[in-house]
Amino acid sequence: GKCVAILTSGGDSQGMNAALRALVRMAIFHRARVFLIYEGYHGLVTGGDCIRETSWYDVSHIMGKGGTVIGTARCKEFRERDGRRKAALNLVKRGITKLVVIGGDGSLTGANIFREEWSGLLDELCTLGDIDEQEQAVCSHLNIVGLVGSIDNDMCGTDMTLGADSALHRILEAVDAITSTASSHQRSFVLEVMGRHCGYLALVSALACMADWCLIPESPPTDGWEEKMCCQLSQSRKAGRRMNLIIVAEGAVDRHSKPITSQYVKGVIEKELGHDTRITVLGHVQRGGATSAYDRVIGCRVGAEAAIAVLEADSTTEPVLVGLQGNKVVRSPLMECVRKTQAVSSAMKAGDFKNALAMRAGSFVR
Ligand code: ADP
Repeated sequence: GKCVAILTSGGDSQGMNAALRALVRMAIFHRARVFLIYEGYHGLVTGGDCIRETSWYDVSHIMGKGGTVIGTARCKEFRERDGRRKAALNLVKRGITKLVVIGGDGSLTGANIFREEWSGLLDELCTLGDIDEQEQAVCSHLNIVGLVGSIDNDMCGTDMTLGADSALHRILEAVDAITSTASSHQRSFVLEVMGRHCGYLALVSALACMADWCLIPESPPTDGWEEKMCCQLSQSRKAGRRMNLIIVAEGAVDRHSKPITSQYVKGVIEKELGHDTRITVLGHVQRGGATSAYDRVIGCRVGAEAAIAVLEADSTTEPVLVGLQGNKVVRSPLMECVRKTQAVSSAMKAGDFKNALAMRAGSFVR
């Protein structure tokens, strides 16, 4: 029978478990054997107890849990060819030739490299005497399918990454909590949300909770923005609002690529307006807690499709990314998605925001 292995890698996110559950069950439904790899690529390189065959009921009651029940890690060894050769040996010894990776663009880049090197790695293992010619022949092709788990919504090839919606829910809960205390004291709050290269969480949460001002990396404000912001804040106070809310993405920068920190924003408001101003950095709270209905459902949908895609794949199939486009679950060439995502990051680093936004248009709000 066909053997499928699944791992989660990179930063954890809600929805990974829903995808994992659907993957396991759809693959078993199609009579495949399914292996779970614990602790991401670290488990793949280590083998042993980190790779365990799983059953239908092993993945019961995990859909709504945040994070990933099979663990995730950052793994230096897998970045080296020696590490990837160990990983290949661990798969061949179990007859696994189908691998599904749930992670961010780094993890998916690693998966693609692994698959490109696969036949070379098997040659080396054969020469070393770690595998025999029959094992090499049986496992001659590796099929890869990628799913994107990331709260940042920062990947091309899918309109929504798993976890972004749940993270928005956490942010809105925090804003609701802050709003009551802030208006009691007539304070201003600077809320810092995650998103190093992607302002999705900041922008969408700002829309959803009527923030006064929002700073994101994709759209650096023009010089003199501080004055405009303060004008906006004092206008809304004059109109009767008892608090102000400014949402800052952690990667926000100005026109000169200088980071705009929460501390800086607070300083400006205190100096120009004299407001009692506080900072809240949400940090890992955004990754925590229950998975939203939306992330559960898209986790199920992309997970089920990923199982079908990896089981259908043959020796000629290129790696695919299963994502959501216009509310349809679609397969796209994995490497093209990774390349586009990296091109967006490079454009942002180079200060070419117009181009970066245009390339990301599919996954961004319009
Ligand atoms: P994310 O997947 O969330 O972008 P990382 O970039 O940290 O997170 O990648 C997670 C893991 O994927 C790394 O620790 C490493 O094991 C593997 N990986 C990332 N990039 C590569 C690469 N270029 N080659 C091989 N492995 C990689």
